[in-house]
Amino acid sequence: MLPVVALVGRPNVGKSTLFNRLTRTRDALVADFPGLTRDRKYGQANYEGMQFIVVDTGGISGDEQGIDAEMAQQSLLAVEEADLVLFLLDARTGITAADQGIARHLRLQNKPVHIVANKVDGIDGDSESAEFYALALGEVHQIAAAHGRGISQLLQNLLYPLSETFPDMIAPDEPVNHEEEDAEAQLKRLQDLPIKLAIVGKPNVGKSTLTNRILGEERVVVYDQPGTTRDSVFIPMSRDDREYILIDTAGVRKRRKVSDMVEKFSIVKTLQAIEEANVVLLVVDAREGITDQDLSLLSFVLNSGRSLVMAVNKWDGLDTDVKDEIKRELDRRLGFIDFARLHFISALHGSGVGNLFESVQEAYGSATRRINTSILTRIMEMAQDDHQPPLVRGRRVKMKYAHAGGYNPPVIVIHGNQVEDLPDAYKRYLMNYFRKSLKVMGTPIRIEFKEGA
Ligand code: GDP
Ligand code: GDP
Repeated sequence: MLPVVALVGRPNVGKSTLFNRLTRTRDALVADFPGLTRDRKYGQANYEGMQFIVVDTGGISGDEQGIDAEMAQQSLLAVEEADLVLFLLDARTGITAADQGIARHLRLQNKPVHIVANKVDGIDGDSESAEFYALALGEVHQIAAAHGRGISQLLQNLLYPLSETFPDMIAPDEPVNHEEEDAEAQLKRLQDLPIKLAIVGKPNVGKSTLTNRILGEERVVVYDQPGTTRDSVFIPMSRDDREYILIDTAGVRKRRKVSDMVEKFSIVKTLQAIEEANVVLLVVDAREGITDQDLSLLSFVLNSGRSLVMAVNKWDGLDTDVKDEIKRELDRRLGFIDFARLHFISALHGSGVGNLFESVQEAYGSATRRINTSILTRIMEMAQDDHQPPLVRGRRVKMKYAHAGGYNPPVIVIHGNQVEDLPDAYKRYLMNYFRKSLKVMGTPIRIEFKEGA
Protein backbone atom coordinates (compact mmCIF):
# COMPACT_ATOMS: atom_id res chain seq x y z
CA MET A 1 0.00 0.00 0.00
CA LEU A 2 1.13 3.50 -0.83
CA PRO A 3 0.07 6.65 1.00
CA VAL A 4 -2.24 9.04 -0.79
CA VAL A 5 -1.50 12.75 -0.96
CA ALA A 6 -4.27 15.11 -2.10
CA LEU A 7 -3.53 18.53 -3.57
CA VAL A 8 -6.33 20.95 -2.79
CA GLY A 9 -6.76 24.59 -3.68
CA ARG A 10 -8.62 27.03 -5.84
CA PRO A 11 -7.78 27.24 -9.56
CA ASN A 12 -4.42 28.72 -10.54
CA VAL A 13 -2.49 28.25 -7.31
CA GLY A 14 -0.16 25.72 -8.96
CA LYS A 15 -1.68 22.31 -8.24
CA SER A 16 -1.03 20.84 -11.66
CA THR A 17 2.46 22.29 -11.73
CA LEU A 18 3.21 20.48 -8.49
CA PHE A 19 1.40 17.35 -9.66
CA ASN A 20 3.46 17.16 -12.84
CA ARG A 21 6.67 17.71 -10.95
CA LEU A 22 5.86 14.91 -8.51
CA THR A 23 4.73 12.39 -11.11
CA ARG A 24 7.00 13.43 -14.00
CA THR A 25 4.55 11.87 -16.39
CA ARG A 26 1.72 12.74 -18.66
CA ASP A 27 0.13 9.42 -17.75
CA ALA A 28 -2.19 10.89 -15.20
CA LEU A 29 -5.43 9.06 -14.74
CA VAL A 30 -8.15 11.61 -15.28
CA ALA A 31 -11.29 10.89 -13.36
CA ASP A 32 -13.98 12.16 -15.62
CA PHE A 33 -16.20 9.18 -15.05
CA PRO A 34 -19.88 9.95 -15.11
CA GLY A 35 -20.89 10.92 -11.62
CA LEU A 36 -17.33 11.68 -10.64
CA THR A 37 -16.78 15.06 -12.12
CA ARG A 38 -14.26 17.85 -12.11
CA ASP A 39 -10.87 17.35 -13.61
CA ARG A 40 -9.51 15.21 -10.87
CA LYS A 41 -6.19 13.59 -11.75
CA TYR A 42 -4.43 10.63 -10.19
CA GLY A 43 -0.79 9.77 -10.62
CA GLN A 44 1.95 7.73 -9.09
CA ALA A 45 4.62 9.96 -7.66
CA ASN A 46 8.21 8.94 -7.31
CA TYR A 47 10.17 11.74 -5.77
CA GLU A 48 13.62 11.37 -4.26
CA GLY A 49 13.05 7.81 -3.20
CA MET A 50 9.50 8.27 -1.96
CA GLN A 51 6.60 6.66 -3.77
CA PHE A 52 3.01 7.66 -3.23
CA ILE A 53 -0.26 8.26 -4.99
CA VAL A 54 -0.94 11.90 -5.66
CA VAL A 55 -4.36 13.32 -6.45
CA ASP A 56 -4.92 16.71 -8.00
CA THR A 57 -8.43 17.37 -6.77
CA GLY A 58 -9.19 19.95 -9.45
CA GLY A 59 -10.02 23.54 -8.74
CA ILE A 60 -12.53 24.06 -5.98
CA SER A 61 -13.43 27.43 -4.65
CA GLY A 62 -15.32 26.34 -1.57
CA ASP A 63 -18.40 28.49 -2.21
CA GLU A 64 -19.97 26.65 -5.13
CA GLN A 65 -23.74 26.62 -5.55
CA GLY A 66 -26.13 23.99 -6.91
CA ILE A 67 -24.58 21.44 -9.23
CA ASP A 68 -21.17 23.02 -8.69
CA ALA A 69 -21.52 22.44 -5.01
CA GLU A 70 -22.17 18.78 -5.67
CA MET A 71 -19.08 18.56 -7.81
CA ALA A 72 -16.98 20.32 -5.23
CA GLN A 73 -18.32 17.86 -2.70
CA GLN A 74 -16.99 15.06 -4.83
CA SER A 75 -13.64 16.72 -5.13
CA LEU A 76 -13.59 16.80 -1.38
CA LEU A 77 -14.25 13.05 -1.40
CA ALA A 78 -10.70 12.79 -2.69
CA VAL A 79 -9.70 14.43 0.56
CA GLU A 80 -11.45 11.68 2.49
CA GLU A 81 -9.32 9.08 0.75
CA ALA A 82 -6.09 10.93 1.43
CA ASP A 83 -3.54 10.27 4.13
CA LEU A 84 -2.14 13.75 3.78
CA VAL A 85 -3.72 16.91 2.39
CA LEU A 86 -1.65 19.72 0.93
CA PHE A 87 -3.69 22.89 0.77
CA LEU A 88 -2.03 25.11 -1.82
CA LEU A 89 -2.21 28.88 -1.75
CA ASP A 90 -0.70 31.54 -3.93
CA ALA A 91 1.83 33.55 -1.92
CA ARG A 92 1.55 36.36 -4.47
CA THR A 93 -2.16 36.98 -4.06
CA GLY A 94 -2.68 36.27 -0.39
CA ILE A 95 -5.90 34.86 1.05
CA THR A 96 -9.00 35.06 -1.14
CA ALA A 97 -12.62 34.32 -0.29
CA ALA A 98 -12.28 31.01 -2.10
CA ASP A 99 -9.29 30.07 0.08
CA GLN A 100 -11.37 30.89 3.16
CA GLY A 101 -14.15 28.63 1.90
CA ILE A 102 -11.81 25.71 1.29
CA ALA A 103 -10.16 26.22 4.66
CA ARG A 104 -13.58 26.03 6.33
CA HIS A 105 -14.19 22.69 4.62
CA LEU A 106 -10.80 21.33 5.51
CA ARG A 107 -11.02 22.32 9.15
CA LEU A 108 -14.10 20.08 9.42
CA GLN A 109 -12.22 17.07 8.05
CA ASN A 110 -10.42 14.84 10.42
CA LYS A 111 -7.26 14.81 8.27
CA PRO A 112 -3.71 16.01 8.51
CA VAL A 113 -3.86 19.22 6.45
CA HIS A 114 -0.84 21.36 5.71
CA ILE A 115 -0.71 24.77 4.16
CA VAL A 116 1.63 25.14 1.23
CA ALA A 117 2.42 28.66 0.06
CA ASN A 118 3.38 28.38 -3.61
CA LYS A 119 5.14 30.82 -5.95
CA VAL A 120 7.60 32.17 -3.38
CA ASP A 121 10.21 32.61 -6.11
CA GLY A 122 11.41 36.18 -6.44
CA ILE A 123 9.40 37.47 -3.47
CA ASP A 124 9.93 37.59 0.26
CA GLY A 125 8.27 34.27 1.07
CA ASP A 126 8.32 34.73 4.84
CA SER A 127 6.41 37.96 4.90
CA GLU A 128 4.12 37.23 1.96
CA SER A 129 2.93 33.91 3.38
CA ALA A 130 2.71 35.00 7.01
CA GLU A 131 -0.98 35.84 6.68
CA PHE A 132 -1.77 32.18 5.88
CA TYR A 133 -1.34 31.35 9.55
CA ALA A 134 -4.66 33.11 10.03
CA LEU A 135 -6.38 30.13 8.37
CA ALA A 136 -5.70 28.18 11.56
CA LEU A 137 -4.43 25.10 9.79
CA GLY A 138 -1.01 25.01 11.32
CA GLU A 139 2.44 25.59 9.92
CA VAL A 140 2.93 27.19 6.50
CA HIS A 141 5.37 25.55 4.11
CA GLN A 142 6.88 27.55 1.29
CA ILE A 143 7.57 26.21 -2.19
CA ALA A 144 8.01 27.31 -5.77
CA ALA A 145 6.51 24.39 -7.66
CA ALA A 146 7.47 25.75 -11.05
CA HIS A 147 11.14 25.81 -10.02
CA GLY A 148 11.18 22.69 -7.89
CA ARG A 149 12.10 24.71 -4.83
CA GLY A 150 11.15 23.55 -1.35
CA ILE A 151 9.49 20.35 -2.53
CA SER A 152 12.16 18.03 -1.19
CA GLN A 153 12.02 19.65 2.20
CA LEU A 154 8.24 19.56 2.18
CA LEU A 155 8.13 15.84 1.48
CA GLN A 156 10.89 15.09 3.98
CA ASN A 157 9.01 16.95 6.69
CA LEU A 158 5.47 15.84 5.95
CA LEU A 159 5.55 12.62 4.00
CA TYR A 160 8.54 10.80 5.34
CA PRO A 161 6.95 10.25 8.78
CA LEU A 162 4.26 8.18 7.03
CA SER A 163 6.82 5.58 6.03
CA GLU A 164 6.32 3.87 9.38
CA THR A 165 2.74 3.07 8.38
CA PHE A 166 3.53 2.61 4.68
CA PRO A 167 6.89 0.83 4.36
CA ASP A 168 6.27 0.31 0.62
CA MET A 169 6.60 4.02 0.00
CA ILE A 170 10.37 4.03 0.38
CA ALA A 171 11.83 3.11 -2.99
CA PRO A 172 15.07 1.20 -2.80
CA ASP A 173 18.15 3.00 -4.17
CA GLU A 174 18.69 0.27 -6.70
CA PRO A 175 15.96 -1.71 -8.44
CA VAL A 176 15.26 -4.53 -6.00
CA ASN A 177 16.02 -7.71 -7.81
CA HIS A 178 18.97 -6.75 -9.88
CA GLU A 179 21.05 -9.74 -8.96
CA GLU A 180 20.47 -13.24 -10.15
CA GLU A 181 20.40 -14.69 -6.61
CA ASP A 182 17.79 -12.19 -5.50
CA ALA A 183 15.66 -12.96 -8.52
CA GLU A 184 15.85 -16.66 -7.69
CA ALA A 185 14.72 -16.06 -4.11
CA GLN A 186 11.86 -13.90 -5.32
CA LEU A 187 10.79 -16.60 -7.75
CA LYS A 188 10.63 -19.22 -4.98
CA ARG A 189 8.43 -16.93 -2.93
CA LEU A 190 6.08 -16.15 -5.81
CA GLN A 191 5.61 -19.78 -6.77
CA ASP A 192 4.46 -20.69 -3.28
CA LEU A 193 2.00 -17.88 -2.72
CA PRO A 194 -1.67 -17.62 -3.70
CA ILE A 195 -2.23 -15.63 -6.89
CA LYS A 196 -3.54 -12.19 -6.06
CA LEU A 197 -6.07 -11.36 -8.74
CA ALA A 198 -7.51 -7.85 -8.91
CA ILE A 199 -10.74 -7.29 -10.84
CA VAL A 200 -10.67 -3.70 -12.03
CA GLY A 201 -12.52 -1.52 -14.48
CA LYS A 202 -14.50 1.68 -14.61
CA PRO A 203 -17.96 1.91 -13.01
CA ASN A 204 -20.76 -0.29 -14.38
CA VAL A 205 -18.69 -2.57 -16.58
CA GLY A 206 -19.87 -5.51 -14.50
CA LYS A 207 -17.12 -6.06 -11.93
CA SER A 208 -19.43 -6.97 -9.08
CA THR A 209 -21.60 -9.16 -11.26
CA LEU A 210 -18.44 -10.96 -12.34
CA THR A 211 -17.08 -11.23 -8.81
CA ASN A 212 -20.36 -12.69 -7.59
CA ARG A 213 -20.43 -15.07 -10.52
CA ILE A 214 -16.93 -16.30 -9.75
CA LEU A 215 -17.63 -16.59 -6.04
CA GLY A 216 -20.95 -18.30 -6.65
CA GLU A 217 -19.10 -21.06 -8.41
CA GLU A 218 -16.31 -21.34 -5.90
CA ARG A 219 -15.88 -22.19 -2.30
CA VAL A 220 -15.33 -18.97 -0.43
CA VAL A 221 -13.23 -19.42 2.63
CA VAL A 222 -13.66 -16.19 4.53
CA TYR A 223 -14.33 -12.53 3.93
CA ASP A 224 -11.93 -9.92 5.12
CA GLN A 225 -13.85 -6.78 5.97
CA PRO A 226 -12.47 -3.50 4.70
CA GLY A 227 -11.52 -0.68 7.01
CA THR A 228 -12.42 2.33 4.91
CA THR A 229 -14.08 3.14 1.59
CA ARG A 230 -10.78 3.05 -0.23
CA ASP A 231 -9.82 -0.46 0.91
CA SER A 232 -10.53 -3.40 -1.34
CA VAL A 233 -11.92 -6.63 0.01
CA PHE A 234 -9.54 -9.60 -0.09
CA ILE A 235 -11.33 -12.88 -0.71
CA PRO A 236 -9.36 -16.12 -0.50
CA MET A 237 -10.63 -18.83 -2.83
CA SER A 238 -9.36 -21.90 -4.58
CA ARG A 239 -9.85 -23.25 -8.04
CA ASP A 240 -8.35 -26.23 -9.85
CA ASP A 241 -6.04 -26.87 -6.90
CA ARG A 242 -4.64 -23.36 -7.06
CA GLU A 243 -5.06 -20.83 -4.27
CA TYR A 244 -6.18 -17.32 -5.17
CA ILE A 245 -6.88 -14.11 -3.38
CA LEU A 246 -9.49 -12.14 -5.21
CA ILE A 247 -9.08 -8.41 -4.78
CA ASP A 248 -12.58 -7.06 -5.07
CA THR A 249 -12.53 -3.36 -5.93
CA ALA A 250 -16.28 -3.27 -6.55
CA GLY A 251 -17.08 -3.82 -2.92
CA VAL A 252 -19.50 -6.64 -3.64
CA ARG A 253 -20.11 -7.28 -0.01
CA LYS A 254 -20.77 -3.72 1.02
CA ARG A 255 -23.03 -2.55 -1.73
CA ARG A 256 -26.65 -1.85 -1.17
CA LYS A 257 -27.61 0.74 -3.76
CA VAL A 258 -26.54 0.01 -7.30
CA SER A 259 -27.02 3.66 -8.12
CA ASP A 260 -24.47 4.85 -5.61
CA MET A 261 -21.55 5.03 -7.96
CA VAL A 262 -19.53 7.54 -6.01
CA GLU A 263 -19.59 5.39 -2.96
CA LYS A 264 -18.59 2.19 -4.68
CA PHE A 265 -16.05 3.41 -7.21
CA SER A 266 -12.75 4.74 -6.03
CA ILE A 267 -9.75 5.34 -8.21
CA VAL A 268 -7.43 5.22 -5.25
CA LYS A 269 -8.84 1.81 -4.43
CA THR A 270 -8.32 0.70 -8.02
CA LEU A 271 -4.71 1.90 -8.10
CA GLN A 272 -3.92 0.28 -4.76
CA ALA A 273 -5.47 -2.97 -5.97
CA ILE A 274 -3.32 -2.95 -9.11
CA GLU A 275 -0.21 -2.32 -6.98
CA GLU A 276 -1.17 -5.17 -4.70
CA ALA A 277 -2.03 -7.73 -7.38
CA ASN A 278 -0.01 -10.30 -9.27
CA VAL A 279 -2.52 -10.47 -12.10
CA VAL A 280 -5.01 -7.80 -13.09
CA LEU A 281 -8.28 -8.70 -14.76
CA LEU A 282 -9.34 -5.56 -16.59
CA VAL A 283 -13.03 -5.56 -17.41
CA VAL A 284 -14.44 -3.41 -20.20
CA ASP A 285 -18.00 -3.02 -21.44
CA ALA A 286 -18.64 -4.38 -24.95
CA ARG A 287 -21.50 -1.98 -25.43
CA GLU A 288 -19.38 1.07 -24.75
CA GLY A 289 -16.27 0.03 -26.62
CA ILE A 290 -12.85 1.10 -25.39
CA THR A 291 -13.09 4.48 -23.70
CA ASP A 292 -10.31 6.85 -22.67
CA GLN A 293 -10.84 5.77 -19.08
CA ASP A 294 -10.24 2.15 -20.06
CA LEU A 295 -7.02 3.21 -21.74
CA SER A 296 -5.92 5.21 -18.69
CA LEU A 297 -6.49 2.22 -16.46
CA LEU A 298 -4.68 0.04 -18.96
CA SER A 299 -1.67 2.31 -18.99
CA PHE A 300 -1.58 2.15 -15.22
CA VAL A 301 -1.58 -1.62 -15.32
CA LEU A 302 1.18 -1.63 -17.93
CA ASN A 303 3.32 0.75 -15.88
CA SER A 304 2.83 -1.37 -12.79
CA GLY A 305 4.31 -4.39 -14.56
CA ARG A 306 1.49 -6.63 -13.41
CA SER A 307 0.24 -9.51 -15.52
CA LEU A 308 -2.87 -8.72 -17.46
CA VAL A 309 -5.97 -10.50 -18.72
CA MET A 310 -8.74 -8.55 -20.44
CA ALA A 311 -12.43 -9.33 -20.27
CA VAL A 312 -14.91 -7.78 -22.66
CA ASN A 313 -18.13 -8.10 -20.71
CA LYS A 314 -21.82 -7.95 -21.67
CA TRP A 315 -21.17 -10.07 -24.74
CA ASP A 316 -24.71 -11.46 -24.47
CA GLY A 317 -27.59 -10.57 -26.74
CA LEU A 318 -25.50 -8.83 -29.40
CA ASP A 319 -26.01 -9.36 -33.14
CA THR A 320 -23.18 -10.90 -35.11
CA ASP A 321 -22.43 -7.78 -37.08
CA VAL A 322 -22.35 -5.70 -33.90
CA LYS A 323 -19.92 -8.22 -32.42
CA ASP A 324 -17.73 -8.02 -35.52
CA GLU A 325 -17.73 -4.26 -35.34
CA ILE A 326 -16.73 -4.33 -31.66
CA LYS A 327 -13.91 -6.76 -32.40
CA ARG A 328 -12.54 -4.52 -35.13
CA GLU A 329 -12.67 -1.56 -32.76
CA LEU A 330 -10.84 -3.52 -30.05
CA ASP A 331 -8.19 -4.52 -32.53
CA ARG A 332 -7.69 -0.96 -33.57
CA ARG A 333 -7.44 0.47 -30.08
CA LEU A 334 -5.76 -2.38 -28.23
CA GLY A 335 -3.41 -3.60 -30.94
CA PHE A 336 -0.46 -2.37 -28.90
CA ILE A 337 -0.97 -4.86 -26.08
CA ASP A 338 -0.50 -7.99 -28.08
CA PHE A 339 0.58 -10.01 -25.04
CA ALA A 340 -2.71 -9.99 -23.12
CA ARG A 341 -5.46 -12.54 -23.67
CA LEU A 342 -8.82 -11.10 -24.54
CA HIS A 343 -12.00 -12.89 -23.39
CA PHE A 344 -15.54 -12.20 -24.48
CA ILE A 345 -17.79 -12.95 -21.55
CA SER A 346 -21.17 -12.44 -20.02
CA ALA A 347 -20.86 -12.04 -16.29
CA LEU A 348 -24.64 -11.96 -16.13
CA HIS A 349 -25.15 -15.36 -17.78
CA GLY A 350 -21.80 -16.87 -16.92
CA SER A 351 -20.62 -17.60 -20.44
CA GLY A 352 -16.87 -17.44 -20.88
CA VAL A 353 -16.24 -16.79 -17.19
CA GLY A 354 -14.75 -20.21 -16.49
CA ASN A 355 -12.09 -19.81 -19.16
CA LEU A 356 -10.75 -16.63 -17.60
CA PHE A 357 -8.84 -18.65 -15.06
CA GLU A 358 -6.84 -20.48 -17.69
CA SER A 359 -5.52 -17.15 -18.88
CA VAL A 360 -4.93 -15.93 -15.35
CA GLN A 361 -2.87 -19.04 -14.64
CA GLU A 362 -1.02 -18.67 -17.91
CA ALA A 363 -0.27 -15.00 -17.21
CA TYR A 364 1.00 -15.76 -13.73
CA GLY A 365 2.93 -18.71 -15.07
CA SER A 366 4.65 -16.50 -17.65
CA ALA A 367 5.45 -13.94 -15.00
CA THR A 368 6.99 -16.51 -12.68
CA ARG A 369 8.68 -18.96 -15.03
CA ARG A 370 12.40 -19.34 -14.37
CA ILE A 371 14.46 -18.04 -17.27
CA ASN A 372 18.07 -19.06 -17.04
CA THR A 373 21.15 -17.15 -17.95
CA SER A 374 22.28 -19.34 -20.83
CA ILE A 375 18.94 -19.11 -22.64
CA LEU A 376 18.70 -15.36 -22.15
CA THR A 377 22.27 -14.85 -23.31
CA ARG A 378 21.65 -17.06 -26.32
CA ILE A 379 18.54 -15.09 -27.33
CA MET A 380 20.45 -11.85 -26.84
CA GLU A 381 23.22 -13.11 -29.13
CA MET A 382 20.75 -14.14 -31.81
CA ALA A 383 19.11 -10.74 -31.63
CA GLN A 384 22.54 -9.14 -31.93
CA ASP A 385 23.47 -11.31 -34.92
CA ASP A 386 20.22 -10.58 -36.73
CA HIS A 387 20.55 -6.89 -36.14
CA GLN A 388 23.81 -5.26 -35.04
CA PRO A 389 23.44 -2.53 -32.42
CA PRO A 390 24.17 0.91 -33.88
CA LEU A 391 27.31 2.94 -33.28
CA VAL A 392 27.19 5.25 -30.29
CA ARG A 393 29.77 8.04 -30.39
CA GLY A 394 31.63 6.15 -33.08
CA ARG A 395 31.85 2.90 -31.14
CA ARG A 396 29.81 -0.20 -31.54
CA VAL A 397 27.75 -1.14 -28.50
CA LYS A 398 28.69 -4.60 -27.28
CA MET A 399 26.15 -6.65 -25.33
CA LYS A 400 27.92 -9.40 -23.39
CA TYR A 401 25.43 -11.48 -21.45
CA ALA A 402 21.95 -11.46 -19.98
CA HIS A 403 20.39 -12.86 -16.84
CA ALA A 404 17.09 -12.72 -14.99
CA GLY A 405 16.80 -9.80 -12.60
CA GLY A 406 13.31 -10.37 -11.23
CA TYR A 407 9.86 -11.80 -11.84
CA ASN A 408 6.25 -10.59 -12.05
CA PRO A 409 7.19 -8.84 -14.26
CA PRO A 410 10.15 -10.75 -15.64
CA VAL A 411 13.19 -8.47 -15.72
CA ILE A 412 16.05 -9.19 -18.10
CA VAL A 413 19.36 -7.58 -17.21
CA ILE A 414 21.75 -7.10 -20.12
CA HIS A 415 25.41 -6.41 -19.39
CA GLY A 416 27.84 -4.90 -21.84
CA ASN A 417 29.74 -1.86 -22.99
CA GLN A 418 27.77 1.34 -23.51
CA VAL A 419 24.53 -0.65 -23.35
CA GLU A 420 22.83 2.15 -21.44
CA ASP A 421 23.30 4.34 -24.51
CA LEU A 422 21.38 2.08 -26.88
CA PRO A 423 18.75 4.06 -28.75
CA ASP A 424 15.12 3.45 -27.83
CA ALA A 425 14.36 1.88 -31.21
CA TYR A 426 16.97 -0.81 -30.58
CA LYS A 427 15.71 -1.37 -27.05
CA ARG A 428 12.22 -1.91 -28.45
CA TYR A 429 13.62 -4.34 -31.01
CA LEU A 430 15.29 -6.33 -28.21
CA MET A 431 12.10 -6.31 -26.20
CA ASN A 432 10.10 -7.76 -29.08
CA TYR A 433 12.80 -10.29 -29.82
CA PHE A 434 12.85 -11.56 -26.23
CA ARG A 435 9.09 -11.58 -26.10
CA LYS A 436 8.78 -13.66 -29.23
CA SER A 437 11.60 -16.03 -28.35
CA LEU A 438 10.46 -16.63 -24.78
CA LYS A 439 6.80 -16.85 -25.83
CA VAL A 440 5.63 -14.90 -22.79
CA MET A 441 1.89 -14.45 -22.73
CA GLY A 442 -0.01 -12.33 -20.27
CA THR A 443 2.83 -10.38 -18.72
CA PRO A 444 4.90 -7.40 -19.77
CA ILE A 445 8.66 -7.87 -19.58
CA ARG A 446 11.30 -5.33 -18.68
CA ILE A 447 14.85 -4.99 -19.85
CA GLU A 448 17.50 -3.24 -17.78
CA PHE A 449 20.95 -2.39 -19.03
CA LYS A 450 24.10 -2.56 -16.94
CA GLU A 451 27.45 -1.15 -17.86
CA GLY A 452 30.33 -3.61 -17.84
CA ALA A 453 30.55 -7.32 -17.13
P1 GDP B 1 -3.77 24.94 -10.87
O1 GDP B 1 -4.95 25.55 -11.54
O2 GDP B 1 -3.86 25.07 -9.37
O3 GDP B 1 -3.52 23.53 -11.29
O4 GDP B 1 -2.48 25.85 -11.26
P2 GDP B 1 -1.36 25.60 -12.39
O5 GDP B 1 -0.40 24.54 -11.97
O6 GDP B 1 -2.02 25.46 -13.69
O7 GDP B 1 -0.58 26.99 -12.29
C1 GDP B 1 -1.22 28.23 -12.51
C2 GDP B 1 -0.19 29.24 -12.97
O8 GDP B 1 0.76 29.50 -11.94
C3 GDP B 1 0.61 28.77 -14.18
O9 GDP B 1 0.78 29.85 -15.04
C4 GDP B 1 1.94 28.34 -13.58
O10 GDP B 1 3.00 28.48 -14.49
C5 GDP B 1 2.09 29.30 -12.43
N1 GDP B 1 2.93 28.75 -11.36
C6 GDP B 1 2.85 27.52 -10.81
N2 GDP B 1 3.81 27.36 -9.87
C7 GDP B 1 4.52 28.51 -9.84
C8 GDP B 1 5.66 28.95 -9.09
O11 GDP B 1 6.24 28.24 -8.28
N3 GDP B 1 6.10 30.22 -9.32
C9 GDP B 1 5.51 31.04 -10.23
N4 GDP B 1 6.02 32.24 -10.37
N5 GDP B 1 4.45 30.65 -10.96
C10 GDP B 1 3.96 29.41 -10.78
P1 GDP C 1 -19.59 -2.63 -11.61
O1 GDP C 1 -19.91 -1.20 -11.30
O2 GDP C 1 -18.42 -2.72 -12.54
O3 GDP C 1 -19.42 -3.47 -10.41
O4 GDP C 1 -20.84 -3.18 -12.47
P2 GDP C 1 -22.08 -4.07 -12.02
O5 GDP C 1 -21.65 -5.48 -11.78
O6 GDP C 1 -22.80 -3.37 -10.91
O7 GDP C 1 -22.95 -4.05 -13.34
C1 GDP C 1 -23.50 -2.86 -13.87
C2 GDP C 1 -24.73 -3.17 -14.66
O8 GDP C 1 -24.40 -3.97 -15.79
C3 GDP C 1 -25.77 -3.95 -13.87
O9 GDP C 1 -27.04 -3.48 -14.23
C4 GDP C 1 -25.57 -5.39 -14.33
O10 GDP C 1 -26.72 -6.15 -14.24
C5 GDP C 1 -25.16 -5.16 -15.77
N1 GDP C 1 -24.32 -6.28 -16.26
C6 GDP C 1 -23.22 -6.79 -15.65
N2 GDP C 1 -22.72 -7.80 -16.39
C7 GDP C 1 -23.50 -7.93 -17.48
C8 GDP C 1 -23.49 -8.80 -18.62
O11 GDP C 1 -22.64 -9.68 -18.77
N3 GDP C 1 -24.46 -8.60 -19.57
C9 GDP C 1 -25.39 -7.64 -19.44
N4 GDP C 1 -26.29 -7.54 -20.40
N5 GDP C 1 -25.45 -6.81 -18.38
C10 GDP C 1 -24.52 -6.95 -17.41
